[in-house]
Formats: sequence, structure tokens, C-alpha cells
Amino acid sequence: MRAALLYGPEDLRVQQVPEPEGEVIVEVQAATTCGTDTKMWRHGHRVLGPYPCAFGHETAGVRIDTGQRVLVSDSVACGSCAPCRAGRAQICRDPTWILGGFAERIAAPEPALHPIPDGLPAHAAAMAEPLAAAVHAVDRGSEATDVGIVGGGPMGLMLAALLIAQQRTVTVADPHSERRAQAVQLGARSADRLGRRHDLVFEAVGRPEAWRDAAAAAAPGAVVVLVGGCPSGTEVTLDPGPLHYEELELRGSFHHAPADVDRALTSLASGVVPWELLQGPTISLNDLPHALATPNGGPALKWVVDPRR
Ligand SMILES: [Zn+2]
Ligand SMILES: [Zn+2]
Repeated sequence: MRAALLYGPEDLRVQQVPEPEGEVIVEVQAATTCGTDTKMWRHGHRVLGPYPCAFGHETAGVRIDTGQRVLVSDSVACGSCAPCRAGRAQICRDPTWILGGFAERIAAPEPALHPIPDGLPAHAAAMAEPLAAAVHAVDRGSEATDVGIVGGGPMGLMLAALLIAQQRTVTVADPHSERRAQAVQLGARSADRLGRRHDLVFEAVGRPEAWRDAAAAAAPGAVVVLVGGCPSGTEVTLDPGPLHYEELELRGSFHHAPADVDRALTSLASGVVPWELLQGPTISLNDLPHALATPNGGPALKWVVDPRR
């Protein structure tokens, strides 16, 4: 079959590879790209295997054995480490990563597979993977009604859609006017930067300055949820004053648990998250290197790789 393999930083090759082996084989219909893929392509990533390695982690397709349409989650928790036993599968110490969506077929263990609701197209279902992380991040927040979001990329906009569906007032801050326009289309307010102080703030960029902006936008007693991962080795400087005198709560949010994936699929199927807003062009495997190299300065869009093309 054909697959896109990473041979090293910025060295992606589409080639014939042996058929995947594993518990269940899924024929890939759509694999969406995200910022993490760009990071993996450019710098490598701790969850990638040794080069050459398969990647692509937002994958939807059809089980070859039963014909059922499924979302292939990108990880399965071990079930036995301390976080797993405490019900926090998303921070499992020994997860199995399931990468390789940028291929005609992918092998996955049964627990990674989630049925796709009827009527939800594969290219929308693939977005359930990042959306599940947004679902989890909202749970990490508080009940506050005045919410600020730093970053209007796909993650920031997914957070906005989920929070607006809960009748909250949401302001999305992003320097790109196209992304601010997308936020407004969702029903959010938009700004260059969060000028006011909010009772709940989400950071959805993954850069030290965005972490600082998020903390600086917090009202006394607010909760700040840090969703974007900074590159390893990064140092973040924060003003200790508000953290102490205003009892700000900084909470990390990472990844998702299996139940979050099912909630994400339901949110996509019911229209709570208007996935059309984030749907970018559909491309072939051969187009992928060019897509990953394209600077993402405009609207927040996810490319849809259809390996059957
Ligand atoms: Zn992703
Ligand atoms: Zn575990």
C-alpha cells in the first residue's frame, strides 16, 4: 500500500510499504492535518518511532473486518499506571500511540476504535481527535461565564464553539483577521489581544508569550487552562504577583480520554461544532509535503488527506 513516511526533519516521502499488521485494519478515508503534524514534520516528536516512521493521528475510515465506519484514536492508555487507576487516562504514563493515518490503511487495537455517528462524513469525523482534547480542556476549566481564549487556530475555535454552546460569553484573541472573522462566525467576540480580564482563560497556541498573555488576561481568582504545549526545553516567565495575591489557578490540559472522543463525535454530528468552518482543501498523499510546508498565516483550516486519491 502507499503511505507517507518521515525520514527525518522536513523529509517526507510517499512510497509503497508493506501492509500494516495489527488487531484491526482500517481503510483510511480521511486523515486531517494539524499543528502537531507540522511540528513532527519539522522537528520530530517524542511519540514518533525511529525514522523512517509513519505519522498522521486524526484518522477516520472503515474497518475491513466488519465494514463499520470508525474514528481511529491516536492512543490507548495502559490501564494500570497510577493516573489510569485514578481515572485520568489522558496522562497515562505508558500509552500506546497509534500513528500512521497518512496511509491507505492503518492497524489499530480494538480499544482505539470509536464508531462514527450516521451521517457524519469521514473528513469531519477525523476532527474528533483534536476536538476530544478541546472537550477535555473545557472540563479542566470552571463554570465561569466570561471566557477568554488566546489563539484562534483550530483548537481555539473548537474551544470557542463548545463554550458558546454552553451559553458562555467568549472572546477569542488572535492577530490574524481571518481567524478573528471565523471566531465571530461562531458567535464569539474577537480581539487582537485579550484586553480585559476574564474569569476563565484558555491558552491554545503553545508558545511562552501566549502562556504569559493568558495569565495576564485572568481576573482575580480566575482559572487559566494551558492547552497548547510549548516545545520541550522552553522556559516561561510569569508574573508571580497575580498568581499569589489574586490566587490564579494555572491548570495544564493534555490530550483526552476515550469518553471525550465519543463526546467529540456527538458534538460534530449534532452541529454543536460547525466543522465546515475548519474544513480545508482535500488533498492526496502526494500533496502532503507541500501542505505541511505551507505557512499557516491565514484562516484556521485543516487539510483533509484522502489516501484514495
Ligand atoms: Zn492533531
Ligand atoms: Zn496508564
